Amino acid sequence: MYDVYSAGTGRVIGEVPDMSPGEVGLAVARAESATGTWQALGTKGRAEAMDRFADAVENVADELALVDSQNGGNPYAAMRVGVRKGIEAVRYFSGIALTMTGQTIPATTDYLHYTVREPFGVVGIITAYNHPAMFALARTAAALVVGNTVVLKPSADTPLSALRIAEIADDVLGKGVLNVITGGAGAGSALVRHPRVRRIGFTGSAATALAIQMDSADSGHIKRLSFELGGKNPLIICEDSDVAFAIDGALEGMNLTRVLGQSCGSTSRVFVHESLYEAVSEGVAARMRELRIGPPEDPETELGALVSRRQLERVKSYVETGRREGAAVMTGGRQPEHLLSTGGFFYEPTLFRDVQAGMTIAREEIFGPVLAMIPWSDETAMLKAVNDSNYGLTASVFTQNLTTAHRLARLVESGYIWINGVEKRWIGVPFGGQKDSGTTTEYSVDELYNFTQNKTISVFLG
Ligand code: NAD
Repeated sequence: MYDVYSAGTGRVIGEVPDMSPGEVGLAVARAESATGTWQALGTKGRAEAMDRFADAVENVADELALVDSQNGGNPYAAMRVGVRKGIEAVRYFSGIALTMTGQTIPATTDYLHYTVREPFGVVGIITAYNHPAMFALARTAAALVVGNTVVLKPSADTPLSALRIAEIADDVLGKGVLNVITGGAGAGSALVRHPRVRRIGFTGSAATALAIQMDSADSGHIKRLSFELGGKNPLIICEDSDVAFAIDGALEGMNLTRVLGQSCGSTSRVFVHESLYEAVSEGVAARMRELRIGPPEDPETELGALVSRRQLERVKSYVETGRREGAAVMTGGRQPEHLLSTGGFFYEPTLFRDVQAGMTIAREEIFGPVLAMIPWSDETAMLKAVNDSNYGLTASVFTQNLTTAHRLARLVESGYIWINGVEKRWIGVPFGGQKDSGTTTEYSVDELYNFTQNKTISVFLG
Protein backbone atom coordinates (compact mmCIF):
# COMPACT_ATOMS: atom_id res chain seq x y z
CA MET A 1 0.00 0.00 0.00
CA TYR A 2 1.07 3.59 -0.38
CA ASP A 3 -0.28 6.94 0.80
CA VAL A 4 -2.34 9.31 -1.32
CA TYR A 5 -2.15 13.01 -0.41
CA SER A 6 -4.28 16.10 -0.47
CA ALA A 7 -2.25 18.63 -2.48
CA GLY A 8 -3.87 21.56 -0.66
CA THR A 9 -2.87 20.39 2.82
CA GLY A 10 -0.01 17.97 2.27
CA ARG A 11 -1.89 15.45 4.45
CA VAL A 12 -2.62 11.81 3.72
CA ILE A 13 -6.22 11.26 2.58
CA GLY A 14 -6.10 7.60 1.66
CA GLU A 15 -4.00 4.61 0.79
CA VAL A 16 -4.14 2.32 -2.20
CA PRO A 17 -2.31 -0.85 -3.20
CA ASP A 18 1.01 -0.59 -4.99
CA MET A 19 0.15 -3.48 -7.24
CA SER A 20 2.62 -6.23 -8.01
CA PRO A 21 2.97 -7.79 -11.48
CA GLY A 22 0.88 -10.71 -10.18
CA GLU A 23 -1.96 -8.40 -9.18
CA VAL A 24 -1.76 -6.59 -12.51
CA GLY A 25 -2.03 -10.00 -14.14
CA LEU A 26 -5.24 -10.65 -12.19
CA ALA A 27 -6.71 -7.40 -13.53
CA VAL A 28 -5.77 -8.39 -17.08
CA ALA A 29 -7.40 -11.80 -16.55
CA ARG A 30 -10.52 -10.09 -15.22
CA ALA A 31 -10.62 -7.86 -18.31
CA GLU A 32 -10.06 -10.84 -20.56
CA SER A 33 -12.95 -12.74 -19.01
CA ALA A 34 -15.30 -9.87 -19.93
CA THR A 35 -14.31 -9.49 -23.60
CA GLY A 36 -16.72 -12.15 -24.90
CA THR A 37 -19.87 -10.66 -23.39
CA TRP A 38 -18.78 -7.11 -24.17
CA GLN A 39 -18.04 -7.88 -27.81
CA ALA A 40 -21.26 -9.86 -28.20
CA LEU A 41 -23.24 -6.68 -27.54
CA GLY A 42 -22.19 -5.33 -30.92
CA THR A 43 -21.36 -1.70 -31.55
CA LYS A 44 -24.92 -0.47 -31.04
CA GLY A 45 -25.33 -2.35 -27.77
CA ARG A 46 -22.00 -1.09 -26.45
CA ALA A 47 -22.80 2.49 -27.47
CA GLU A 48 -26.08 2.26 -25.55
CA ALA A 49 -24.25 0.88 -22.52
CA MET A 50 -21.70 3.71 -22.72
CA ASP A 51 -24.53 6.24 -22.75
CA ARG A 52 -25.95 4.67 -19.58
CA PHE A 53 -22.45 4.79 -18.10
CA ALA A 54 -22.22 8.52 -18.93
CA ASP A 55 -25.57 9.09 -17.18
CA ALA A 56 -24.44 7.17 -14.09
CA VAL A 57 -21.14 9.09 -13.91
CA GLU A 58 -23.03 12.34 -14.32
CA ASN A 59 -24.97 11.53 -11.16
CA VAL A 60 -21.71 11.59 -9.18
CA ALA A 61 -19.91 14.26 -11.22
CA ASP A 62 -19.62 16.71 -8.34
CA GLU A 63 -18.29 14.01 -6.03
CA LEU A 64 -15.61 13.11 -8.58
CA ALA A 65 -14.69 16.78 -9.02
CA LEU A 66 -14.35 17.16 -5.25
CA VAL A 67 -12.10 14.12 -4.98
CA ASP A 68 -9.90 15.33 -7.84
CA SER A 69 -9.73 18.80 -6.36
CA GLN A 70 -8.73 17.58 -2.90
CA ASN A 71 -6.33 15.01 -4.21
CA GLY A 72 -4.74 16.92 -7.12
CA GLY A 73 -4.94 20.46 -5.71
CA ASN A 74 -6.79 22.26 -8.51
CA PRO A 75 -9.86 24.41 -7.86
CA TYR A 76 -13.11 22.49 -7.50
CA ALA A 77 -14.79 24.55 -10.25
CA ALA A 78 -12.00 23.66 -12.70
CA MET A 79 -12.25 19.97 -11.89
CA ARG A 80 -16.03 20.09 -12.43
CA VAL A 81 -15.40 21.33 -15.95
CA GLY A 82 -12.92 18.49 -16.42
CA VAL A 83 -15.32 15.79 -15.28
CA ARG A 84 -18.02 17.19 -17.59
CA LYS A 85 -15.58 17.09 -20.50
CA GLY A 86 -14.87 13.45 -19.71
CA ILE A 87 -18.60 12.66 -19.75
CA GLU A 88 -18.96 14.60 -22.99
CA ALA A 89 -16.20 12.47 -24.53
CA VAL A 90 -17.96 9.24 -23.52
CA ARG A 91 -21.16 10.47 -25.19
CA TYR A 92 -19.25 11.63 -28.27
CA PHE A 93 -17.61 8.24 -28.81
CA SER A 94 -20.83 6.36 -28.22
CA GLY A 95 -22.53 8.73 -30.67
CA ILE A 96 -20.03 8.19 -33.49
CA ALA A 97 -19.31 4.51 -32.83
CA LEU A 98 -21.49 3.36 -35.72
CA THR A 99 -19.64 5.57 -38.20
CA MET A 100 -16.58 3.33 -38.00
CA THR A 101 -16.62 1.09 -41.04
CA GLY A 102 -14.42 -1.18 -43.11
CA GLN A 103 -13.99 -0.93 -46.88
CA THR A 104 -14.82 -2.93 -49.98
CA ILE A 105 -12.01 -2.84 -52.51
CA PRO A 106 -12.88 -3.51 -56.18
CA ALA A 107 -9.36 -4.73 -56.98
CA THR A 108 -10.38 -7.82 -59.02
CA THR A 109 -13.64 -9.31 -60.26
CA ASP A 110 -13.07 -12.92 -59.19
CA TYR A 111 -12.94 -12.05 -55.46
CA LEU A 112 -14.87 -9.84 -53.08
CA HIS A 113 -12.26 -7.97 -51.08
CA TYR A 114 -13.29 -6.24 -47.88
CA THR A 115 -11.87 -5.11 -44.57
CA VAL A 116 -13.23 -5.23 -41.05
CA ARG A 117 -12.01 -3.39 -37.95
CA GLU A 118 -11.48 -5.65 -34.96
CA PRO A 119 -10.77 -4.81 -31.31
CA PHE A 120 -7.42 -5.81 -29.80
CA GLY A 121 -8.96 -7.55 -26.76
CA VAL A 122 -7.52 -6.16 -23.52
CA VAL A 123 -6.15 -2.63 -23.89
CA GLY A 124 -3.91 -0.97 -21.28
CA ILE A 125 -4.46 2.74 -20.71
CA ILE A 126 -1.95 4.66 -18.58
CA THR A 127 -2.70 8.27 -17.68
CA ALA A 128 -1.11 11.42 -16.23
CA TYR A 129 -2.11 13.19 -13.04
CA ASN A 130 -3.46 16.53 -14.19
CA HIS A 131 -7.07 15.61 -15.14
CA PRO A 132 -7.70 12.37 -13.25
CA ALA A 133 -11.42 11.74 -13.77
CA MET A 134 -11.49 13.32 -17.20
CA PHE A 135 -8.73 11.00 -18.41
CA ALA A 136 -10.35 7.95 -16.78
CA LEU A 137 -13.41 8.66 -18.92
CA ALA A 138 -12.15 10.32 -22.10
CA ARG A 139 -9.06 8.16 -22.63
CA THR A 140 -10.92 4.86 -22.23
CA ALA A 141 -14.17 5.61 -24.08
CA ALA A 142 -13.03 5.01 -27.68
CA ALA A 143 -11.18 1.81 -26.74
CA LEU A 144 -14.26 0.48 -24.97
CA VAL A 145 -16.93 1.33 -27.49
CA VAL A 146 -15.11 -0.46 -30.32
CA GLY A 147 -15.13 -3.67 -28.27
CA ASN A 148 -11.97 -3.76 -26.17
CA THR A 149 -11.98 -4.20 -22.43
CA VAL A 150 -9.63 -1.91 -20.56
CA VAL A 151 -7.15 -2.04 -17.71
CA LEU A 152 -6.60 1.58 -16.68
CA LYS A 153 -3.66 2.73 -14.60
CA PRO A 154 -4.22 6.28 -13.38
CA SER A 155 -1.34 8.34 -12.01
CA ALA A 156 0.06 7.10 -8.72
CA ASP A 157 -0.54 10.62 -7.33
CA THR A 158 -4.23 10.87 -8.28
CA PRO A 159 -5.86 7.43 -8.40
CA LEU A 160 -9.00 8.02 -6.31
CA SER A 161 -11.59 9.24 -8.83
CA ALA A 162 -10.69 6.45 -11.27
CA LEU A 163 -11.42 3.88 -8.56
CA ARG A 164 -14.89 5.37 -8.10
CA ILE A 165 -15.45 5.36 -11.86
CA ALA A 166 -14.44 1.69 -11.99
CA GLU A 167 -17.15 0.86 -9.43
CA ILE A 168 -19.75 2.55 -11.62
CA ALA A 169 -18.42 0.79 -14.72
CA ASP A 170 -18.72 -2.59 -13.00
CA ASP A 171 -22.40 -1.88 -12.30
CA VAL A 172 -23.32 -0.39 -15.66
CA LEU A 173 -20.98 -1.92 -18.26
CA GLY A 174 -20.49 -5.26 -16.55
CA LYS A 175 -17.77 -6.65 -14.36
CA GLY A 176 -14.33 -6.63 -15.92
CA VAL A 177 -15.09 -4.24 -18.80
CA LEU A 178 -13.24 -1.29 -17.25
CA ASN A 179 -10.71 -2.23 -14.57
CA VAL A 180 -8.45 0.06 -12.56
CA ILE A 181 -5.04 -0.88 -11.19
CA THR A 182 -3.08 1.32 -8.79
CA GLY A 183 0.62 1.92 -8.34
CA GLY A 184 3.41 3.73 -10.10
CA ALA A 185 6.12 2.74 -12.56
CA GLY A 186 6.12 -0.89 -11.39
CA ALA A 187 2.43 -1.46 -12.03
CA GLY A 188 2.59 0.48 -15.32
CA SER A 189 5.56 -1.53 -16.48
CA ALA A 190 3.85 -4.83 -15.60
CA LEU A 191 0.83 -3.80 -17.65
CA VAL A 192 3.01 -2.90 -20.65
CA ARG A 193 4.95 -6.14 -20.39
CA HIS A 194 1.89 -8.34 -20.03
CA PRO A 195 1.84 -10.77 -22.99
CA ARG A 196 -1.93 -10.55 -23.51
CA VAL A 197 -2.04 -6.74 -23.58
CA ARG A 198 -1.28 -5.93 -27.22
CA ARG A 199 -2.29 -2.29 -27.22
CA ILE A 200 -1.18 0.46 -24.85
CA GLY A 201 -2.55 4.01 -24.90
CA PHE A 202 -0.35 6.32 -22.84
CA THR A 203 -0.73 9.91 -21.67
CA GLY A 204 2.27 11.29 -19.81
CA SER A 205 5.86 12.39 -20.24
CA ALA A 206 8.20 11.58 -23.11
CA ALA A 207 10.64 9.98 -20.64
CA THR A 208 8.00 7.46 -19.53
CA ALA A 209 6.97 6.85 -23.15
CA LEU A 210 10.56 5.83 -23.90
CA ALA A 211 10.53 3.45 -20.91
CA ILE A 212 7.28 1.98 -22.28
CA GLN A 213 8.84 1.47 -25.71
CA MET A 214 11.74 -0.37 -24.08
CA ASP A 215 9.48 -2.49 -21.85
CA SER A 216 7.34 -3.30 -24.84
CA ALA A 217 10.33 -4.48 -26.86
CA ASP A 218 11.68 -6.34 -23.85
CA SER A 219 8.41 -8.25 -23.49
CA GLY A 220 9.26 -10.11 -26.67
CA HIS A 221 5.91 -9.22 -28.22
CA ILE A 222 4.91 -6.70 -30.85
CA LYS A 223 2.50 -4.17 -29.37
CA ARG A 224 0.69 -1.17 -30.72
CA LEU A 225 1.63 1.88 -28.65
CA SER A 226 0.13 5.34 -28.84
CA PHE A 227 1.47 8.35 -27.00
CA GLU A 228 0.01 11.71 -25.95
CA LEU A 229 3.00 13.47 -24.43
CA GLY A 230 4.35 16.77 -23.19
CA GLY A 231 4.99 20.10 -24.82
CA LYS A 232 7.03 23.27 -24.62
CA ASN A 233 4.48 25.15 -26.59
CA PRO A 234 5.19 28.50 -28.22
CA LEU A 235 2.80 31.44 -28.35
CA ILE A 236 4.03 33.78 -31.09
CA ILE A 237 2.88 37.38 -30.74
CA CYS A 238 3.44 39.37 -33.92
CA GLU A 239 3.97 43.11 -34.23
CA ASP A 240 0.39 43.78 -35.35
CA SER A 241 -1.25 42.06 -32.34
CA ASP A 242 -3.50 43.90 -29.97
CA VAL A 243 -1.66 44.24 -26.64
CA ALA A 244 -4.67 43.53 -24.39
CA PHE A 245 -5.58 40.48 -26.50
CA ALA A 246 -1.98 39.26 -26.29
CA ILE A 247 -1.92 39.64 -22.49
CA ASP A 248 -5.18 37.69 -22.18
CA GLY A 249 -3.83 35.00 -24.49
CA ALA A 250 -0.53 34.61 -22.64
CA LEU A 251 -2.40 34.10 -19.37
CA GLU A 252 -5.10 31.84 -20.71
CA GLY A 253 -2.60 29.76 -22.69
CA MET A 254 -0.77 28.85 -19.49
CA ASN A 255 -3.86 27.16 -18.00
CA LEU A 256 -3.13 28.74 -14.64
CA THR A 257 -6.66 28.87 -13.32
CA ARG A 258 -7.45 25.32 -14.33
CA VAL A 259 -4.35 23.34 -13.46
CA LEU A 260 -1.67 25.84 -12.34
CA GLY A 261 0.18 25.45 -15.61
CA GLN A 262 0.23 21.65 -15.31
CA SER A 263 -1.12 21.05 -18.79
CA CYS A 264 0.54 19.47 -21.81
CA GLY A 265 -0.84 22.33 -23.92
CA SER A 266 0.38 25.23 -21.78
CA THR A 267 2.05 27.90 -23.91
CA SER A 268 5.04 28.25 -21.63
CA ARG A 269 7.27 29.98 -24.22
CA VAL A 270 5.87 33.32 -25.31
CA PHE A 271 7.75 34.85 -28.24
CA VAL A 272 6.77 38.53 -28.23
CA HIS A 273 7.74 40.95 -31.01
CA GLU A 274 10.20 43.43 -29.50
CA SER A 275 7.87 46.37 -30.21
CA LEU A 276 5.29 44.90 -27.78
CA TYR A 277 7.66 43.14 -25.38
CA GLU A 278 7.58 45.67 -22.53
CA ALA A 279 3.82 46.23 -22.67
CA VAL A 280 2.93 42.55 -22.86
CA SER A 281 5.43 41.48 -20.18
CA GLU A 282 4.30 44.22 -17.77
CA GLY A 283 0.64 43.43 -18.47
CA VAL A 284 1.00 39.69 -17.89
CA ALA A 285 3.01 40.24 -14.69
CA ALA A 286 0.38 42.66 -13.35
CA ARG A 287 -2.44 40.22 -14.07
CA MET A 288 -0.53 37.32 -12.51
CA ARG A 289 -0.12 39.32 -9.29
CA GLU A 290 -3.91 39.73 -9.08
CA LEU A 291 -4.72 36.00 -9.24
CA ARG A 292 -6.01 34.61 -5.95
CA ILE A 293 -4.10 31.53 -4.80
CA GLY A 294 -5.86 29.50 -2.16
CA PRO A 295 -7.28 26.21 -0.93
CA PRO A 296 -8.72 24.21 -3.85
CA GLU A 297 -12.16 23.83 -2.27
CA ASP A 298 -12.59 27.60 -1.59
CA PRO A 299 -14.95 29.04 -4.26
CA GLU A 300 -12.91 32.28 -4.28
CA THR A 301 -9.75 30.42 -5.28
CA GLU A 302 -8.47 31.04 -8.78
CA LEU A 303 -5.20 29.12 -8.49
CA GLY A 304 -4.81 25.90 -6.52
CA ALA A 305 -1.78 23.85 -5.59
CA LEU A 306 0.70 21.70 -7.50
CA VAL A 307 -0.02 17.99 -7.33
CA SER A 308 2.79 16.84 -5.04
CA ARG A 309 5.85 17.82 -3.07
CA ARG A 310 7.95 16.30 -5.86
CA GLN A 311 6.31 18.58 -8.43
CA LEU A 312 6.76 21.57 -6.13
CA GLU A 313 10.48 20.80 -5.78
CA ARG A 314 10.75 20.40 -9.53
CA VAL A 315 9.19 23.82 -10.17
CA LYS A 316 11.39 25.46 -7.52
CA SER A 317 14.48 23.94 -9.05
CA TYR A 318 13.59 25.19 -12.56
CA VAL A 319 13.02 28.69 -11.20
CA GLU A 320 16.46 28.62 -9.55
CA THR A 321 17.98 27.43 -12.83
CA GLY A 322 16.25 30.27 -14.68
CA ARG A 323 17.69 32.82 -12.27
CA ARG A 324 21.15 31.26 -12.43
CA GLU A 325 21.15 31.31 -16.23
CA GLY A 326 20.38 35.03 -16.25
CA ALA A 327 16.61 35.40 -16.74
CA ALA A 328 14.83 37.91 -14.49
CA VAL A 329 11.78 37.10 -12.34
CA MET A 330 9.13 39.80 -12.90
CA THR A 331 6.65 38.25 -10.49
CA GLY A 332 6.34 35.06 -8.46
CA GLY A 333 9.36 32.83 -8.02
CA ARG A 334 8.37 31.65 -4.55
CA GLN A 335 5.72 29.92 -2.48
CA PRO A 336 2.93 32.24 -1.30
CA GLU A 337 3.71 33.30 2.30
CA HIS A 338 0.08 33.28 3.44
CA LEU A 339 -0.31 29.59 2.54
CA LEU A 340 2.94 28.23 3.98
CA SER A 341 1.19 27.11 7.18
CA THR A 342 -1.31 24.97 5.23
CA GLY A 343 1.34 22.42 4.25
CA GLY A 344 -0.06 22.49 0.68
CA PHE A 345 2.07 22.47 -2.46
CA PHE A 346 1.34 26.06 -3.51
CA TYR A 347 3.55 28.13 -5.81
CA GLU A 348 3.06 31.64 -7.18
CA PRO A 349 2.57 32.12 -10.90
CA THR A 350 5.99 33.13 -12.14
CA LEU A 351 6.98 35.30 -15.08
CA PHE A 352 10.53 35.36 -16.39
CA ARG A 353 11.67 38.12 -18.73
CA ASP A 354 14.93 38.48 -20.65
CA VAL A 355 14.71 34.80 -21.50
CA GLN A 356 16.85 33.50 -24.34
CA ALA A 357 15.53 30.59 -26.34
CA GLY A 358 18.50 28.39 -25.41
CA MET A 359 17.98 28.67 -21.64
CA THR A 360 16.81 25.60 -19.72
CA ILE A 361 13.49 27.23 -18.73
CA ALA A 362 12.78 27.89 -22.42
CA ARG A 363 13.65 24.35 -23.52
CA GLU A 364 12.39 21.90 -20.91
CA GLU A 365 8.80 21.21 -19.95
CA ILE A 366 8.41 22.46 -16.37
CA PHE A 367 4.74 21.50 -15.99
CA GLY A 368 4.00 24.27 -13.52
CA PRO A 369 3.13 28.00 -13.40
CA VAL A 370 6.34 29.28 -15.00
CA LEU A 371 6.13 31.41 -18.12
CA ALA A 372 9.15 32.51 -20.18
CA MET A 373 8.90 35.74 -22.23
CA ILE A 374 11.28 35.78 -25.18
CA PRO A 375 11.65 38.88 -27.38
CA TRP A 376 12.05 38.61 -31.14
CA SER A 377 12.56 40.91 -34.11
CA ASP A 378 13.55 38.74 -37.09
CA GLU A 379 10.93 36.19 -38.16
CA THR A 380 13.42 33.65 -39.55
CA ALA A 381 15.50 33.62 -36.35
CA MET A 382 12.34 33.44 -34.21
CA LEU A 383 11.03 30.45 -36.20
CA LYS A 384 14.35 28.68 -35.87
CA ALA A 385 14.19 29.13 -32.08
CA VAL A 386 10.53 28.03 -31.98
CA ASN A 387 11.30 24.83 -33.88
CA ASP A 388 14.57 24.12 -32.08
CA SER A 389 12.68 21.92 -29.63
CA ASN A 390 12.21 18.19 -29.27
CA TYR A 391 8.55 18.87 -28.57
CA GLY A 392 5.82 19.69 -31.07
CA LEU A 393 2.45 19.56 -29.37
CA THR A 394 0.65 22.90 -29.75
CA ALA A 395 1.43 26.45 -30.86
CA SER A 396 -0.46 29.73 -31.07
CA VAL A 397 0.07 32.59 -33.48
CA PHE A 398 -1.35 36.04 -32.81
CA THR A 399 -1.50 38.30 -35.87
CA GLN A 400 -4.02 40.30 -37.89
CA ASN A 401 -2.28 39.42 -41.14
CA LEU A 402 -3.83 36.48 -42.95
CA THR A 403 -0.69 35.67 -44.91
CA THR A 404 1.53 35.74 -41.83
CA ALA A 405 -0.98 33.54 -39.99
CA HIS A 406 -1.02 30.83 -42.64
CA ARG A 407 2.72 31.03 -43.31
CA LEU A 408 3.59 30.57 -39.64
CA ALA A 409 0.98 27.83 -39.22
CA ARG A 410 2.74 25.90 -41.99
CA LEU A 411 6.25 26.53 -40.69
CA VAL A 412 5.80 25.88 -36.99
CA GLU A 413 6.44 22.24 -36.12
CA SER A 414 3.54 21.15 -33.94
CA GLY A 415 0.48 18.98 -34.12
CA TYR A 416 -2.07 21.68 -33.30
CA ILE A 417 -1.98 25.39 -34.11
CA TRP A 418 -4.40 28.07 -33.02
CA ILE A 419 -4.49 31.35 -34.90
CA ASN A 420 -5.56 34.12 -32.52
CA GLY A 421 -6.57 31.53 -29.96
CA VAL A 422 -5.03 29.44 -27.21
CA GLU A 423 -5.65 26.10 -25.55
CA LYS A 424 -9.26 25.58 -26.58
CA ARG A 425 -10.10 22.00 -27.43
CA TRP A 426 -13.26 20.84 -29.06
CA ILE A 427 -14.60 17.33 -29.06
CA GLY A 428 -14.51 16.04 -32.63
CA VAL A 429 -11.46 18.13 -33.55
CA PRO A 430 -8.32 15.94 -33.66
CA PHE A 431 -5.72 16.81 -31.02
CA GLY A 432 -2.23 15.34 -30.90
CA GLY A 433 1.46 16.07 -31.12
CA GLN A 434 4.40 15.72 -33.46
CA LYS A 435 8.05 14.92 -32.65
CA ASP A 436 8.51 13.95 -28.95
CA SER A 437 4.97 15.14 -28.17
CA GLY A 438 3.12 12.14 -29.42
CA THR A 439 2.13 9.70 -32.10
CA THR A 440 -1.61 9.89 -32.67
CA THR A 441 -4.59 12.20 -32.45
CA GLU A 442 -7.43 11.93 -30.01
CA TYR A 443 -10.94 13.35 -29.46
CA SER A 444 -11.88 12.54 -33.03
CA VAL A 445 -13.01 9.63 -35.17
CA ASP A 446 -9.33 8.64 -35.63
CA GLU A 447 -9.33 7.41 -32.05
CA LEU A 448 -11.94 4.74 -32.82
CA TYR A 449 -9.79 3.38 -35.64
CA ASN A 450 -6.64 3.60 -33.49
CA PHE A 451 -8.14 1.18 -30.99
CA THR A 452 -8.91 -1.40 -33.65
CA GLN A 453 -6.80 -3.52 -35.95
CA ASN A 454 -7.48 -4.21 -39.59
CA LYS A 455 -8.49 -7.55 -41.08
CA THR A 456 -8.75 -8.02 -44.85
CA ILE A 457 -10.98 -10.77 -46.26
CA SER A 458 -10.99 -11.90 -49.91
CA VAL A 459 -13.88 -14.17 -50.93
CA PHE A 460 -13.60 -16.25 -54.11
CA LEU A 461 -16.69 -15.60 -56.24
CA GLY A 462 -16.27 -18.47 -58.70
P1 NAD B 1 4.51 10.54 -16.07
O1 NAD B 1 5.08 10.18 -17.39
O2 NAD B 1 5.41 10.70 -14.92
O3 NAD B 1 3.41 9.45 -15.62
C1 NAD B 1 2.32 9.14 -16.45
C2 NAD B 1 1.80 7.77 -16.08
O4 NAD B 1 2.79 6.78 -16.38
C3 NAD B 1 1.47 7.60 -14.60
O5 NAD B 1 0.31 6.82 -14.48
C4 NAD B 1 2.69 6.87 -14.08
O6 NAD B 1 2.44 6.14 -12.89
C5 NAD B 1 2.99 5.95 -15.24
N1 NAD B 1 4.34 5.43 -15.32
C6 NAD B 1 5.47 5.93 -14.78
N2 NAD B 1 6.53 5.17 -15.12
C7 NAD B 1 6.05 4.16 -15.88
C8 NAD B 1 6.66 3.05 -16.55
N3 NAD B 1 7.98 2.82 -16.50
N4 NAD B 1 5.87 2.22 -17.27
C9 NAD B 1 4.54 2.44 -17.37
N5 NAD B 1 3.91 3.47 -16.74
C10 NAD B 1 4.66 4.32 -16.01
O7 NAD B 1 3.66 11.88 -16.31
P2 NAD B 1 2.89 12.79 -15.23
O8 NAD B 1 3.90 13.49 -14.38
O9 NAD B 1 1.81 12.03 -14.58
O10 NAD B 1 2.18 13.84 -16.20
C11 NAD B 1 2.86 14.91 -16.77
C12 NAD B 1 3.26 14.63 -18.20
O11 NAD B 1 2.14 14.18 -18.96
C13 NAD B 1 3.73 15.89 -18.88
O12 NAD B 1 4.82 15.61 -19.73
C14 NAD B 1 2.52 16.30 -19.68
O13 NAD B 1 2.78 17.18 -20.74
C15 NAD B 1 1.99 14.98 -20.14
N6 NAD B 1 0.59 15.06 -20.53
C16 NAD B 1 0.25 14.96 -21.87
C17 NAD B 1 -1.08 15.10 -22.28
C18 NAD B 1 -1.49 15.02 -23.73
O14 NAD B 1 -2.66 14.83 -24.01
N7 NAD B 1 -0.58 15.16 -24.69
C19 NAD B 1 -2.07 15.32 -21.31
C20 NAD B 1 -1.69 15.41 -19.97
C21 NAD B 1 -0.37 15.27 -19.59
